[in-house]
Amino acid sequence: MKKIIEIGYKFLYLQDKIKTPKQIMHYKYCGICGKELVDHPAGDDGMVPYCEKCQMYWFDSFSSCVIIMVVNEYDEIAMLKQSYLSTEHETFVSGYIKPGENAETAAIREVNEELGLSIEHLEYAGTYWFPSKELLMLGYIGNVKKTVFHLSSEVDSASWVSIEEAESHMFPERPGNTQHKIFRRWINGKK
Ligand SMILES: [Zn+2]
Repeated sequence: MKKIIEIGYKFLYLQDKIKTPKQIMHYKYCGICGKELVDHPAGDDGMVPYCEKCQMYWFDSFSSCVIIMVVNEYDEIAMLKQSYLSTEHETFVSGYIKPGENAETAAIREVNEELGLSIEHLEYAGTYWFPSKELLMLGYIGNVKKTVFHLSSEVDSASWVSIEEAESHMFPERPGNTQHKIFRRWINGKK
């Protein structure tokens, strides 16, 4: 019995780790030749892992995502239910930037993929560090015409929510939450 509980616990622990993977890559070995890296001064950046054989620095790397608050002409906001993220709270459209894309192209693509909507006007809304997943989030406000959603398989459902109700649908406000910051930036811009 104890064994089963232990295994169960480990499984839950692993599941938790899978849910919130850390995404910063801090290199210990050269990605080209495999040699162990040494700390080496790199100007203003201080000591950075360095391959003496390839004569190359390996700076820490992380992924970049776009997050888009989609708004229609009636000032309603698209809120998405995605059970793999939460069964309680609702999200904005978001996704990884692919190599070769700029952030704006990724934002337009993600809104089209997830909601089936075309952005008519895209507005920059700041960048935010998302500590629990160690990602850089690039925020946008995307204006669309109110039409029927054509959802991707990643989205369980989506609805148009009024300004007054929007924040109660979002994830709780805490350090690292991007939704409320983008929402308030948009509200302040309207005043
Ligand atoms: Zn090397």
